[in-house]
Amino acid sequence: MQKQGLPWAEVRSNLQKRSISLEDIKAWRKSEASANRPSGYKDFCLNYDFCQTCLGEGVTINDNGIGFKIIGMDGDIQLFEQCPVCEGSGRAGGPYVQKKK
Ligand SMILES: [Zn+2]
Repeated sequence: MQKQGLPWAEVRSNLQKRSISLEDIKAWRKSEASANRPSGYKDFCLNYDFCQTCLGEGVTINDNGIGFKIIGMDGDIQLFEQCPVCEGSGRAGGPYVQKKK
């Protein structure tokens, strides 16, 4: 796998904007939980067609699930890894996934 670090603004440049707020996510989880259906954030991502690997963030997440993985430094600038699955789009079924090599 090719590793290429990108500054924050750039690593997020392919990300497709979400129109879902934190409140929407909370409300969805609450209603799913009360209906006894899976209500984790991963389930939410699945339901809303977000990338399961980066959870719709377009950036590789740390192995412990907290924060984003920093794979290098450019001077003082932290470099992040674009999600290799969705290529930074944050979407599970977007055009980025379909043109996969
Ligand atoms: Zn992804």
